[in-house]
Amino acid sequence: MKDCDVLIIGGGPSGAIAGANLAQKGFSVEIVEKLDFPRFVIGESLLPKCNEVLSKNGLLDRIQKQCYIVKAGAIFENEQKDRAVYNFRENLGEPHNTTFQVKREEFDHELLKGAEEFGANVTHGVEVTGYNQDENIVTAKNRDGESVEYKAKFVLDASGYGRVLSRLLDLETPSELKPRKAIFTRIDNDIRPKGELGGYITIFVHGDNEAWIWVIPFIDGTTSVGIVCEDEYYDKMNMTPEEFWDYIIENDANAKERFKNATKVNPVGKIDGYSSNVKTMFGDGFALAGNATEFLDPVFSSGVTLALASGDLAADLIAKELNGEEVDWQKEYQDYMMIGVDVFRAFVNAWYDGRLHKIFFSPIKKEQYTRSVSSILSGYVWNKNNVFVGDSEKKIDTLIKMINEETN
Ligand SMILES: Cc1cc2nc3c(=O)[nH]c(=O)nc-3n(C[C@H](O)[C@H](O)[C@H](O)COP(=O)(O)OP(=O)(O)OC[C@H]3O[C@@H](n4cnc5c(N)ncnc54)[C@H](O)[C@@H]3O)c2cc1C
Repeated sequence: MKDCDVLIIGGGPSGAIAGANLAQKGFSVEIVEKLDFPRFVIGESLLPKCNEVLSKNGLLDRIQKQCYIVKAGAIFENEQKDRAVYNFRENLGEPHNTTFQVKREEFDHELLKGAEEFGANVTHGVEVTGYNQDENIVTAKNRDGESVEYKAKFVLDASGYGRVLSRLLDLETPSELKPRKAIFTRIDNDIRPKGELGGYITIFVHGDNEAWIWVIPFIDGTTSVGIVCEDEYYDKMNMTPEEFWDYIIENDANAKERFKNATKVNPVGKIDGYSSNVKTMFGDGFALAGNATEFLDPVFSSGVTLALASGDLAADLIAKELNGEEVDWQKEYQDYMMIGVDVFRAFVNAWYDGRLHKIFFSPIKKEQYTRSVSSILSGYVWNKNNVFVGDSEKKIDTLIKMINEETN
């Protein structure tokens, strides 16, 4: 049996940042990761808030050295040619206002190597299969099928879609969001907007909001293109993922133009059932971070931001607890994280029911609101000076009412 201060399940962004944080504070950290890195994972567009968390943990320089494409904003466009461009620099004065578009197999590997250099012990090919909460003993299987045990003072579940502790401890609860799926690939010969806009993420609204398409440019000239829609919409097309991807791209006014010279460089993939939720984000001797908690939806690229922010906060609180200080996990962790998650939830709901399109595509742009939206799209979802933080649904409705009054 291996002893350690903190055992982290999973070496994605939430696990790596927590490992880097705790190792730098002098704790003995074991990160167990079931796969060999680099490994593919979807979710390639970061938000500026990520840079803040990376910087706090001494990892931003390392990521900057990778020379990823700079992402300084987001473009939303529908088939009626309404267009909204949000430049992250036009925000409420947040500390970071650009970020990167990254191939996650490279980015996640760099982060994990960073955590390792700070002193975390990383073992690949080890899959966690059991957890004894009373004794804080984690059981895992190594690549030879042998059982390995870890005794930790604290366990952090950063297993993402693996959702290890929530399955073992029966913490799962259904997501309130409708089941949706994403059909995606990478292409060459994308016709990008000129200059800095070429590094922005572009979101095309397809048809009458039946689907949306993400366009994420990479520095090597390839581009990630994914289509997201409700399961029902996909199922009724009765197509393979590749047929569906081709059909939507060929029948979307914006995508057809932008990808007219495109060739696929990857097979078309499909992921579904990704929205998830948990009853609690912590318990005696353990906490959950990143996608192992609640995952909402890909539309605002919030996943890695929430993974880094929660991994980092959990690590700070674990350190506090291991140093003998009292931690109010409900207030200091779960309630705090949920402030940000709830802002994104309101934006996601308003995106799918069309309310947000009224704001994005309105000809009336009040600077204060535009800056507030830009801050949210940058991942600054805990800034109490932002009108959309707290009671977000109501604030969105108030803004729409104001827009309606001014346009009528
Ligand atoms: C369609 C789609 C598009 C998305 N697009 C974006 C985007 O553009 N931008 C963005 O920020 N986010 C995006 N996301 C979300 C993003 O992918 C996740 O939020 C992010 O990967 C979460 O990081 P994590 O560290 O929590 O988990 P992960 O990155 O999933 O890492 C978890 C790790 O745990 C390991 N693991 C799992 N089970 C075990 C086990 N039993 N034992 C040991 N190890 C285990 C896994 O192998 C994995 O490496 C998207 C998600 C979807 C579904």
